[in-house]
Amino acid sequence: MNQRNLPEHPDFLWDDPEPKSSYDVVIVGAGGHGLATAYYLASMHGITNVAVLERGWLAGGNMARNTTIIRSNYLWDESAAIYEHSLKLWEGLEEELDYDIFFSQRGVLNLAHTLQDVRESVRRVEANRLNGVDAEWLDPRQVKEVCPIVNIADDIRYPVMGATYQPRAGIAKHDWVAWGYARRAAELGVDLIQNCEVTGFEISGGRVIGVRTSRGRIGAGKVALAAAGSTSVLTELAGFRVPIQSHPLQALVSELHEIIHPTVVMSNHVHVYVSQAHKGELVMGAGVDSYNGYGQRGSFHIIEQQMAAAVELFPAFSRAHLLRTWGGIVDVTLDASPVMGLTPVDQLYLDCGWGTGGFKAVPGAGWAYADTIAHDRPHDLVAPYGLDRFVTGHLIDEHGAAAVAH
Ligand SMILES: Cc1cc2nc3c(=O)[nH]c(=O)nc-3n(C[C@H](O)[C@H](O)[C@H](O)COP(=O)(O)OP(=O)(O)OC[C@H]3O[C@@H](n4cnc5c(N)ncnc54)[C@H](O)[C@@H]3O)c2cc1C
Repeated sequence: MNQRNLPEHPDFLWDDPEPKSSYDVVIVGAGGHGLATAYYLASMHGITNVAVLERGWLAGGNMARNTTIIRSNYLWDESAAIYEHSLKLWEGLEEELDYDIFFSQRGVLNLAHTLQDVRESVRRVEANRLNGVDAEWLDPRQVKEVCPIVNIADDIRYPVMGATYQPRAGIAKHDWVAWGYARRAAELGVDLIQNCEVTGFEISGGRVIGVRTSRGRIGAGKVALAAAGSTSVLTELAGFRVPIQSHPLQALVSELHEIIHPTVVMSNHVHVYVSQAHKGELVMGAGVDSYNGYGQRGSFHIIEQQMAAAVELFPAFSRAHLLRTWGGIVDVTLDASPVMGLTPVDQLYLDCGWGTGGFKAVPGAGWAYADTIAHDRPHDLVAPYGLDRFVTGHLIDEHGAAAVAH
């Protein structure tokens, strides 16, 4: 159990400031991406006349609901570039924000259960190394050394044939990450405005000039969307469509246990992944529900299958009790990669489509998005993720290439 001091409660957020009549930049959505973007706009680019508008409460969306896995071992160069940049920022984040976030580089194992899994995994290890990302291929005995509670018997339904391993990967405490960014952004002059839903955009001569909100009109030099799960609703209001679908994604935790699980284990084939939070809960997630929805809840059969897989891989879990389940809404693209950059409306920017994997991207995406907004052109890390790839066909397909996508 980690005995470090708890961070101060974010009570500075309870009194939301009254929105000003206009800002240089309005960010829609106070999740991880919106808050990190606001912080980097202020700290890296000196742009402090910024409001982050949140329809609910600070970081109450996916940022509050994710299972906190952080890694950068993606297959394609474009993905490795932005996720590895993000991981490097994670490595200095506690110091940069001067805020405890329990970032723990305990490593991530991606299990392989079939010969095809093995081939794809070894290919990914080689691709990772070429991109300077730490990656190893482990045989079943080595998997057991890293995580002694994994069942590596060869007579089970999905035998473990090996795993990729990224030692620098890990987890962090998600709500504290949000509070850390929020606190520092607020100190630099950013207004964090909760209970303020954006309901429309004011566009003049092809350029955004303000937003309509549940707390009145707010003028804006630039507007940056960071509203995971609701992006397509917002872009429709701005007059264009994005190839994004919203899906429920759920997860669960067990009651508290002694620390028994030293790393993070993911399996695409049986579709479960497990880590153990600092307090002791086993944190488990699955894949998205296949239907579209905004319900922040998922289907029972997904959890049932996820539990069956978990108990087979970790027989020790068979007596664990479920404490809590929940769901979020993630926005999914057809190539399982994000959409970032400029839009058909001048000075309106997009950061979305992170699907099941956007928590790990929070520092890197916020950093690159802030640069894009400040200079009104896509940063090099952002450029491959433009909307135009759905026209040119230059997709960055990470489907299945990196085990469960989280
Ligand atoms: C169960 C689950 C497990 C996950 N596990 C992982 C994981 O292990 N690793 C990983 O990397 N990623 C994971 N993710 C994905 C990750 O959480 C998301 O990709 C990421 O959090 C999305 O960015 P965000 O934090 O900015 O989103 P959010 O926190 O959802 O922020 C978007 C905000 O926009 C607000 N908003 C929406 N519409 C409006 C509007 N009209 N006006 C004002 N505000 C609005 C919402 O209220 C919300 O607060 C998981 C997600 C879920 C649901």
